[in-house]
Amino acid sequence: MKINKYPQKEIWSELVKRPVLKREQLTELIADIFDEVEKNGDQALIAFNKKFDQATVENIQVSEEEIESSENLISEELKLAIQKAKENITKFHASQIPEIKKIETIQGVICWRENRTIEKVGIYIPGGTAPLFSTVLMLAIPAQLAGCKEIILCTPPDKNGNINPAILYTAKFCGVTKVFKTGGAQAIAAMALGTESIPNVYKIFGPGNQYVVAAKEFAQNYNVAIDMPAGPSEVLVIADEQAIPEYCAADLLSQAEHGSDSQVIFLSTDEKIFNETIEETEKQLKELPRNEFAKEALKTSHFILFNSLDNALEFSNLYAPEHLILALDDYEKYIPKIQNAGSVFLGNYSCESAGDYASGTNHTLPTNGFAKNYSGVSLDSFVKKITFQNLSKEGLQNLGKTIEIMAEAEGLLAHKNAVSIRLK
Ligand code: NAD
Repeated sequence: MKINKYPQKEIWSELVKRPVLKREQLTELIADIFDEVEKNGDQALIAFNKKFDQATVENIQVSEEEIESSENLISEELKLAIQKAKENITKFHASQIPEIKKIETIQGVICWRENRTIEKVGIYIPGGTAPLFSTVLMLAIPAQLAGCKEIILCTPPDKNGNINPAILYTAKFCGVTKVFKTGGAQAIAAMALGTESIPNVYKIFGPGNQYVVAAKEFAQNYNVAIDMPAGPSEVLVIADEQAIPEYCAADLLSQAEHGSDSQVIFLSTDEKIFNETIEETEKQLKELPRNEFAKEALKTSHFILFNSLDNALEFSNLYAPEHLILALDDYEKYIPKIQNAGSVFLGNYSCESAGDYASGTNHTLPTNGFAKNYSGVSLDSFVKKITFQNLSKEGLQNLGKTIEIMAEAEGLLAHKNAVSIRLK
């Protein structure tokens, strides 16, 4: 881990850099993968399964029997936990269904917006190092609430060519229509281009490693929308003198264990809490089964001491973390100062795992500084908003002159005439 005390502002821009792969290398690789999938469809996916996931798979599509039998392969306890999480995620996302508000901008001119579902969506569920069935909940629940007609899911197979039963069970439970055994950039290419088995979709969702994120970006060349760049996980914790080092360390490690390219940042204004959190992180790390990933992630992670919480907040806004934890006594006071973050956790009991699994908020969030310009997934991500307007004769009379003057000033006389002809 990289330790820094009271860094000068001039070096902040260095400290907020993520450990990402070189862009040029990635773009070339992704273009080749798209090319291969376009030419060879399912056969390309089968070959990539062998190459990248060491899996032999005959049929890319998961059969009905495999989906049905998943229910018998997971414990009742896990099913109940999934049910509980589903209830909370549904409650929170259902509250995002907007009311239609018709606004009379000027007498006789009424404007409003209505949501329309994106009919065909594809969700990517990471499976490389951990089978993230929780991500199925985070993506399929809002898709279903929004009314998407086709919700397809791609995820990498394990070495035996199987998909984790918890992913299949959750997919069925949340209305996913088809599941496919393919991961990485090739899965994104398949959802963008379509293959013999995989239908192309209008929008692709889901987190993943750097190959997945780069492929989603590339997919936009094929008229496909994406949710956002949601790559290797990050958390930034800000702690004052009342923070609890054991809790801070546990939260940092909960993100570091995602993958060796994850990054965690710890900021504190209290030297004692700072030192104890470093010690505690090293202690808890030893006990983690995935400590190999966490150890790698910690190598590029920063522990920074600041002289004021305002400075720490300013640094956090520059970093724009996916997850921000305020382990502060007076966290309410700092809420208005948060400018850039994917999702925020307030106080000593709001651990990030709550949002990862079951509190109700979505865990698919922008990473790599994209919290400056993107929101996390929500119900809105699965709809388009169409504007409507209705002008009465009186409305056009009230607005006509304004339109005519503006159209004439732009030299667009047909525009002007569309008004004049009606008001004659
Ligand atoms: P993954 O499913 O994203 O990636 C696995 C796939 O990567 C493989 O199937 C393979 O096709 C491809 N791949 C691996 N090595 C490759 C190579 N050398 N060349 C080309 N392709 C290659 O699973 P993962 O690797 O475990 O990563 C999951 C990621 O998702 C983690 O980084 C985690 O932090 C992140 N995540 C982010 C969020 C978020 O909201 N931002 C949420 C959950 C997880």
